[in-house]
Amino acid sequence: MSIPLNDYSITVYGDPYKYDPALQMAFEATVANSIIRGQIAKTSVGKLVLSRIKNGPGDVEIYPRYKAGLNAEADYKLKSNSSGRLIGKDPHKIVVWFKPQQWKETMPASQATIPTNLRAFEPGMLRDEVLLHELVHSGRLLDGFAQSSHKLAPNPDDPAPYADADSAAYETIEEFMTILVSNIYLSEKGQKVFRASHGVDGYPYILDQAQSSSEGFLSKKSNLALVKLFCETDRLAPKLVPIDTLFNPVRAYFIKNPLTYTVNGSLNN
Ligand SMILES: [Zn+2]
Repeated sequence: MSIPLNDYSITVYGDPYKYDPALQMAFEATVANSIIRGQIAKTSVGKLVLSRIKNGPGDVEIYPRYKAGLNAEADYKLKSNSSGRLIGKDPHKIVVWFKPQQWKETMPASQATIPTNLRAFEPGMLRDEVLLHELVHSGRLLDGFAQSSHKLAPNPDDPAPYADADSAAYETIEEFMTILVSNIYLSEKGQKVFRASHGVDGYPYILDQAQSSSEGFLSKKSNLALVKLFCETDRLAPKLVPIDTLFNPVRAYFIKNPLTYTVNGSLNN
């Protein structure tokens, strides 16, 4: 059994739960119907992330994250040859590992009423927000933006592009781009508290108030450089411009730098 979402080139497989058909059906229905169709596809950012996968050169399979203690994750699926030996990664097939029960479904009332200037809870951790994040990774992986091993934390022995102490919290370029899009999704949902890191030790998880608007975010040099890179290279970027919400640095960047449409178009046509 599985639930194919043909509109998005995504299939939800509960196979690892096949010893318990009720559990398998519940997993597939929750992910495909409640979260993807019922939540993610109802937002502008979600629609764009899903149609990017649909129009990309491959497809996505979602399985339960059944090993305890591991986070959600998206990566290329391993390919095997006719005798079953693994022969590397398939660039056209993404696997997402995700367990809905690991994340809250809605924001607890206690969090919803905390004044946003207190910034007292971890944003981006509801189940639809976690899955959206993995689907952003999936679309970029299919488009060839492979996860680079280079850390954004500066390393004098191994200089890497865009490495900067101020963006080190995001860990890698891929995480910066994915958290950027996920934060625009949070903003579209009406939230005012955003994520500031990939959860690396020693860095704040919550974006400070000064950076929590489009202009505030872009006023930091390290953010501006990476937003510019995203706007110039990712075909999702120009499509995000119409989303007029408190936090959408991509929109703000294109409005100030209209030539970026041309750069992006020439790379993605
Ligand atoms: Zn990530």
